[in-house]
This record gives sequence, C-alpha cells and structure tokens, in this order.
Amino acid sequence: MTPFSYHKPASVSEAIQLADRSSHFIAGGTNLVDLMKENVVRPERLIDISALGLDAIEPTANGGVLIGARVSNADLAWHPLIEQHYPLLSEAILAGASPQLRNMASTGGNLLQRTRCYYFYDTGTPCNKRQPGSGCPARTGLNRIHAILGASDACVATHPSDMCVALAALEAVVHVQGRAGERRIAFADFHRLPQDTPDRDHQLAVDELVIAIELPPPEFDQHYRYLKIRDRASYAFALVSVAAALNIEQGVIQHARLALGGVAHKPWRDTAVELGLHGQAPSPALFSRAADALLQGATPLAHNGFKIQLAQRAIVRALSEAAFGNTTLGAAS
Ligand SMILES: Cc1cc2nc3c(=O)[nH]c(=O)nc-3n(C[C@H](O)[C@H](O)[C@H](O)COP(=O)(O)OP(=O)(O)OC[C@H]3O[C@@H](n4cnc5c(N)ncnc54)[C@H](O)[C@@H]3O)c2cc1C
Ligand code: SF4
Repeated sequence: MTPFSYHKPASVSEAIQLADRSSHFIAGGTNLVDLMKENVVRPERLIDISALGLDAIEPTANGGVLIGARVSNADLAWHPLIEQHYPLLSEAILAGASPQLRNMASTGGNLLQRTRCYYFYDTGTPCNKRQPGSGCPARTGLNRIHAILGASDACVATHPSDMCVALAALEAVVHVQGRAGERRIAFADFHRLPQDTPDRDHQLAVDELVIAIELPPPEFDQHYRYLKIRDRASYAFALVSVAAALNIEQGVIQHARLALGGVAHKPWRDTAVELGLHGQAPSPALFSRAADALLQGATPLAHNGFKIQLAQRAIVRALSEAAFGNTTLGAAS
C-alpha cells in the first residue's frame, strides 16, 4: 500500500490551503477509494471535506436552488425542491449506481468521478489519461463503451455520470473556491474534451474545491425525461443516456434542452439543435431530425458503432416521452 497522510480540516479555507498536486480531496470516497486500491491514483495527502458543512439545499434569491457540494446523491434526488421543480435531475440521479452508493456519493464527487475505461483502471496497460504520453490502447482495443463524439487520438473515454447529463441540460453553474478566491463555471465549460491532454478531465486548478452547484429558476418541471440505456437494468453505467427537457405552451415548443451521456468525454450538447426545436410542434419526425443533427460528426470505433443508432433512437424516445408522456408517441400533450 502507498502511504498517505489524512487531514480533516474544519473550514473551506483550511482545506484549500492544504491542497496541492500531491493531494486529493475526499468526499464519499466511492470512486477515489477504488482508484487508490487499484493504484490508479496515489495521493500523498487526503483532505477529507466531510467537516466543512456544504451540505444544504437552499432556494436562491432569483428562484433557483443552491446545492452544497457535500449533499449526498440520495438527499438531492429525494429533496422536495428537486423532486417538484427539477424532476429531470431526480430521475437522472436515481438511474445511477445503487441506493447504498447514492447514500455515500456526494454532488461534488459525482462531477469529478473518473472514466470507466477498462484500461484506465488496469495499471498493467498504458493509458494517456493515467500516464500522459503512454498511449491509448482503447483506440484499437476493447472500445464498446467508448466515445463516438468529441474524442481525440489521445483518448476516447467517456464521462460516466448520469447526474451531470441532467445538470448540463439544466444549465447548472458550478461554484468553486481556491486560494485565488471564488469563481463560477458554467456547466458546459466545467468538463473538458480530451484533445491532447486527456489527463485533465475538468477546468479546476489543484487547489480549487467545488463548494456548490447552482440551478437556475425551474422551467422544465412538466415535460422532461432522463432515459438511460445500459447493459443491465440496474447498477450499470450508461451506454447512451439522454436528458430531454421541453417547455411546451399551446402545443408549441418554446424552449428545449437536450444532452447526451455515455458518448463523449463530457455531457454532449449542441445549442443549435435545441434552437431548431423552438417554435415547432412536437412530433416524432421533428425529434428524429434533431437526433440526426445532434449526432452529426459521430465517429464510431471498431466496437461501438451501434451507439450511433442507439443514441438516435434514444433521443427520439426521450423527447417524445418528454413531450407526450411515457406511453403513447404522437399523442396530444
Ligand atoms: C459500483 C458503482 C456503480 C456506479 N454507478 C454509477 C452510475 O450508474 N451512474 C453514475 O453517475 N455514477 C455511478 N457511480 C459513480 C458514483 O456516482 C461516484 O463514485 C460518486 O458520485 C462519487 O462521489 P464521492 O462523493 O464518493 O466522490 P469521491 O470518491 O470522494 O471523489 C471522487 C473525486 O472527486 C474529487 N472530489 C470530491 N468532492 C470534491 C469537491 N467538492 N471538490 C473538488 N473535488 C472533489 C475527489 O478528489 C476525487 O477525485 C458508481 C460507482 C460505483 C462504485
Ligand atoms: S480511452 Fe482514455 S482512459 Fe481509456 S485507455 Fe485511452 S487514454 Fe486511457
């Protein structure tokens, strides 16, 4: 076992003073402890953030909600404000992991969980994300679960979170604090595409702690759907997932949001595709055109070509269920 020191600071400022390249914050530990056990990450210092508070869910002055980074996935999914006003987020969280894991896993940790690429977890193989410059065996190897959009020669990994796909569709804002002060990051900018530095999953500096996630005022509490397609009915990561949210008035889409999970290094959105839905009457044909547009440029690897058609069908189904309800495609909303 690689030795490490353990610290449990009592304040956010103390926590960020302790942070550097050799440290890791630990929240629920449901991903980080696994990674340490497999020697994938070897922090010299663990900074336990469980005594910092950051565990409230509060309404904001502008009608949104502020979620502390230490709020558990379970508490978030079942909170009345979230269930009532952001049901897309509840649905996405409850599609992930298991009840036990959701009790331990935190909101901040969910954002920062690492990819499920097999080679990343196998220290006997090269991996550019784990060891920059060593290579990407997934490109030509077992790549059934890998990316079809936004990948690079250096890495074809996907981001595994369900919650993040809903947060992308809801245009959440991430509040972070580091030694240089506080800043807010739009969700679309929080995670990175791999390019030639796949070791960096996100935009945080090493001393920056996620302190909260802010949701804008609710808009999609009537017409929403998180659809997750996976190999098993539970306890499995998404092959493809879709967060669909529509604001429909008098049979016309006023506002649409659409995000994909399981297909790229970050939740995948294209605002031009969403704008194309505005002012239109919902229909399977319209949704099919949106699906084709969102998947434009999708590039399959040897074993994941099935994801393109799977994603197209999942988008049409998620948008249709968001618009018309879960049972009858094409029925009146
Ligand atoms: C068997 C299994 C199945 C799973 N299935 C799913 C699934 O289907 N869908 C899904 O979405 N997820 C799934 N997960 C992943 C799970 O959701 C994550 O492990 C969890 O959300 C991570 O949260 P945590 O608090 O335990 O993070 P930790 O493991 O404590 O930390 C994870 C990372 O986040 C960093 N970190 C934590 N909090 C902060 C913070 N506030 N600021 C900065 N950095 C921080 C840590 O340094 C670490 O790098 C599964 C996990 C397991 C083990
Ligand atoms: S896809 Fe990314 S995480 Fe997987 S082996 Fe390649 S570089 Fe590593």
